[in-house]
Formats: sequence, C-alpha cells, structure tokens
Amino acid sequence: MKRRNLLTGIGLSVIGGGLVLRAGAQDAADSPQDGSEDAMSGKTMEEWKQILPKERFDILFREKTEPAWTSPLNDEKRAGTYICAACYQPLFSSEDKFDSGTGWPSFTRPINDEAIDTKKDFKLIWPRTEYHCSNCSGHQGHVFDDGPQPTGQRWCNNGLALEFVVEGDELPELRA
Ligand SMILES: [Zn+2]
Repeated sequence: MKRRNLLTGIGLSVIGGGLVLRAGAQDAADSPQDGSEDAMSGKTMEEWKQILPKERFDILFREKTEPAWTSPLNDEKRAGTYICAACYQPLFSSEDKFDSGTGWPSFTRPINDEAIDTKKDFKLIWPRTEYHCSNCSGHQGHVFDDGPQPTGQRWCNNGLALEFVVEGDELPELRA
C-alpha cells in the first residue's frame, strides 16, 4: 500500500561543537497527531493506544527505540515466527535471526517481500533506512548493510515491537 510522505522538517543544530544536519521524512499515516490518516491499518491511533502497553505503543507508533540488551527476544533461539506486536502480521523467521552483538534482535531479511515497508530517515548524520510493518504501519527498526551472508543486511528490530510464536503453535489472526 502506498503511503504519503511529508517532509516534516529540516534544521541545523550545533551539538558538542559539531554541526549536525537533521532532517526527517515522516509518514502522515504514522503521525499520532493525525488519527484520521491511519484508516489503512483498520485501527485508529487511539485504538492502538488502548490495546497496546505504553512501552510497545511508544515504539510502534511514536518511533521510540528500546534500550539495548533489554529484550528477552535477544536470547530467543527456538524455531518459530516473529510477528508484529500490534497487528500480529508475521515479519521474521527464526531461520534468519543471528546474534549481531548490538543488544537488539537482528535478522538477515524479512520473512517475505510484502511484510515490510521501508523509508529513509536522517536522524543520524548518515541516512539510515527505517522499516515498518506493511499491514499496520507500526515502526519496527532500521536496516543496515553490515549484516552477515546470505544478504549482507542487518535488520535491527525493537524486541517490544515483536511477539514470538514458537514453531508448532498457531499464529494468531491479524487484528488490523
Ligand atoms: Zn503490524
């Protein structure tokens, strides 16, 4: 599904004597200020806020990042499927999980091409690619090109944005 991108701000700020360029392209659909724009997910921002614990909501719909080494999914080694913690869409397979040493669950690729939407952001000095669940637009993490083979990619995911379903258990129905 196409999403509208709005260039929301470009500014310069001086941090520690260094010049940092800040720019952000933000999805209208992801903006918590604009509840009418997220009809594509089947739920309004207010509904997600009711359903999700605050720490999950802040990551999924306010683009926060959890502190490194806090997710139990870092150590999850069983076979299974990682699903979006908001809408339950499958996003990653345990087959593609690897130990990145970063403190966040990391994968070499999404479970399929349709599961994820990506966009560039510029929150660091260098642009990085942020990705979202394609079904509910929930923010998941960032993808980098320093991962292992076979893809060379590192999909660095917030553990709180995921739920793990162990192999053999039934996947829950989508809730958006
Ligand atoms: Zn989702």
